[in-house]
Amino acid sequence: MKRTGKLVCLILALVLVLSLCACSSGKTAQSSVKTVTSGKLTMATNAQFPPYEFYEGDKIVGIDAEIAGAIASKLGLELVIEDMEFDSIITAVKTGKVDIGMAGMTVTDERKESVDFTESYATGVQVIIVADGSEIVSVDDLFAEGANHVIGVQRNTTGDLYCTWDIEDEGLGTVDRYSKGADAVQALKAGKVDCVVIDNEPAKAFVAEVEGLKILETEYALEDYAGAMSKDNQELYSAVNDALKALIADGTVQKIVDKYINAK
Ligand code: GLN
Repeated sequence: MKRTGKLVCLILALVLVLSLCACSSGKTAQSSVKTVTSGKLTMATNAQFPPYEFYEGDKIVGIDAEIAGAIASKLGLELVIEDMEFDSIITAVKTGKVDIGMAGMTVTDERKESVDFTESYATGVQVIIVADGSEIVSVDDLFAEGANHVIGVQRNTTGDLYCTWDIEDEGLGTVDRYSKGADAVQALKAGKVDCVVIDNEPAKAFVAEVEGLKILETEYALEDYAGAMSKDNQELYSAVNDALKALIADGTVQKIVDKYINAK
């Protein structure tokens, strides 16, 4: 009798311990998808691209930072932002150092070979910045036979890729590559390049800070911006993409874009 009692106690205790374990492990499985650092969504960006990402004091803010923050909180994760060269973002995503790249990044077929893109959440336009009084007045002037302009771009951006293919490779001019868009704009101001090809929103921000420059009305290319993610973590990709789609559908993304762009 005594022995049976002990056994029953032991079994009850075991059941209790097991059910507690099941409970707690059930909870973690529910609230977290696998990320580079558990409990966190690590985003790579290049915080030199206002209004999508830029520094306010020592904090990175902007459209991408806020959208990523909203995605993270939907998934119960804390957003961590890593600032790096634009050129390094795709590699960081591909090699699993970060969970997502958000950097006003244009969806291109070449990049799709390395990463999966989320739903697009914004559009961008490649525009041309020139000095007041420039002989370049439209995009066609860059492709003219014998034009031979020096075009400033940010390294490995779509502006760089298009100008390399359309102009440099065709022998119609040369491309000068800078690690920051703002440096290309300074080179234009200093007369080292004849124009800068860059995304329209940062173009507006840069031109507002430098006297004597203007953005041509003409458009070089229209593009879609999206988040870049690894092809190896489909569970995280789906979770992030579903969260983003929901944030687009309920107007949150538009509100964030308006806060930085349209409201100005
Ligand atoms: N949209 C451009 C690209 O994806 C530039 C992005 C950037 O400079 N952050 O290449």
